[in-house]
Amino acid sequence: MRDTELFQLALGLRPPWYVVSCEFNMDKRRLDIEIDFPRGSVFSCPICGREGCSAYDTERHTRRHLNFFQHEAYLNARVPRVSCGDCGIKTIEVPWARSGSGFTLLFEALIMMMAKAMSVKSIADIVKEHDTRLWRVLNHYVHEAPLGRHSEVVHVKDQQRHP
Ligand SMILES: [Zn+2]
Repeated sequence: MRDTELFQLALGLRPPWYVVSCEFNMDKRRLDIEIDFPRGSVFSCPICGREGCSAYDTERHTRRHLNFFQHEAYLNARVPRVSCGDCGIKTIEVPWARSGSGFTLLFEALIMMMAKAMSVKSIADIVKEHDTRLWRVLNHYVHEAPLGRHSEVVHVKDQQRHP
């Protein structure tokens, strides 16, 4: 099995998404996984859900993923914008990240889990990200998560921004 197939399985990617390449840079201590879709693929409109929309153009997205041991890992992809008859041209949702976030869903889950046990500043030090970026994730899930999940994140809200 090729390394790209292995990463595809590990990431749980489903068609049309597939892993094109994995590049490990020893000097930068960084793993870059390139995800793509075949020409002619169709997607659902992110607004109304209409199926069968073809790609109008694409935008390059890079999302930080869980570390690969001590190395930072990134998922890179050209993300299509689709042309929907009702909604116009919209960027689709990818299955591995929330739109507008610089992180993958798994990385966000890690941040949320760590936030139950430590300060955001400590998390920022551990994952080597600016705490402003982490606060953006926490605020999203605290303020916009479905009601049922609020109890899990309540104490995150109680954390002091600048203790
Ligand atoms: Zn639409």
